Amino acid sequence: MSTMKYMCKTAGLFCCALSAVFFSCAQSGGKMDFEKYEPISTLVVPEHPVKKAKYPFIDVHNHQWNMGSQDLGGLITDMDRLNLAVMVNLSGGNGRSLDKMLENVKANYPKRFIVFANIDFDGIGKEGWTENAVKELERDVKQGANGLKIFKDLGFSVKDNKGQRVTVDDPRLDAIWEKAGQLHIPVLIHTADPKPFWDPVDEKNERWLEITTHPGRKRGPNDPAPWETLIEEQHRMFKKHPNTTFIAAHFGWYANDLSKLSSLLDEMPNVNVEFGAVIAELGRQPKAARKFFERYQDRILFGKDSWVPDEYATYFRVLETEDEYFPYHKKYHAFWRMYGMGLPNDILKKVYYKNALRIVPNIDASLFPR
Ligand SMILES: [Zn+2]
Repeated sequence: MSTMKYMCKTAGLFCCALSAVFFSCAQSGGKMDFEKYEPISTLVVPEHPVKKAKYPFIDVHNHQWNMGSQDLGGLITDMDRLNLAVMVNLSGGNGRSLDKMLENVKANYPKRFIVFANIDFDGIGKEGWTENAVKELERDVKQGANGLKIFKDLGFSVKDNKGQRVTVDDPRLDAIWEKAGQLHIPVLIHTADPKPFWDPVDEKNERWLEITTHPGRKRGPNDPAPWETLIEEQHRMFKKHPNTTFIAAHFGWYANDLSKLSSLLDEMPNVNVEFGAVIAELGRQPKAARKFFERYQDRILFGKDSWVPDEYATYFRVLETEDEYFPYHKKYHAFWRMYGMGLPNDILKKVYYKNALRIVPNIDASLFPR
């Protein structure tokens, strides 16, 4: 953790005050790690922490790997505390393991969980692989899966039977996307990762701390392809299947460039977005983000990704309040502070549940206000 040390100013030296973070000052005290620097804000402004969402909501981006055998009661307790009415578990798998999850849900809390199926890419390229994958998806949906989740391994690590990287827009997958459209289930897809993971790890990289604390996330410029290539593959695939509804996970990694995301959504009316793990991008641009939410209020869904119940409070506060300069929960995602968008109730309702009710089948609408 050494490359970004900076000098800490101790007392009364005005020369340091303006530049304390990035420049050393001869008169100052000891050095400090960037991670250690956590000044207590002296700003006094109204605060409205939100522990429970204003409306019951649907989290369309959650992972529960052991849903087949776990006691769901503990989850329900945490969900109720947050006002999380329906959790979408994207890690359903397929076949027998999916069936076990669906059975557990059905036997215990049939209205509180939705499960998405996944594709087993093993053996792609072999005779009959595509037909079998389509059949498996049909079977999984008949059993009770209500969507398809594609993990980022497609584009990154999925290889065909000849050892070649399978691109996100590989034609051998076309029949799967078409089938999802025919079955009226959405495809939630995560492609690539934040662009800075491909950039040099230096003082200019906004994800420096994340890469330094999670070195496995760093990618070479062509590992396994440039960021732009992966993202373009995804967009080509979206455009090729206009009758299938897609949800681009993590705002399609354009939460930090909402004008670009606007033009993409205008070009691709079958695409929706969810903001799992990128609320910090919205919370640093509350005015632009609010305008984006006003314009695309029918195409944004609530997603969180990692299941850490206490972290939802940041999401609620950015969405619901007009609070200023409040903390985010992970410094490696955001060393900056958050500002609330103060969304009006009609947009909040769409983002919290109405859009998901429209896009994801078989959620019980009676759990939500009109
Ligand atoms: Zn995820």
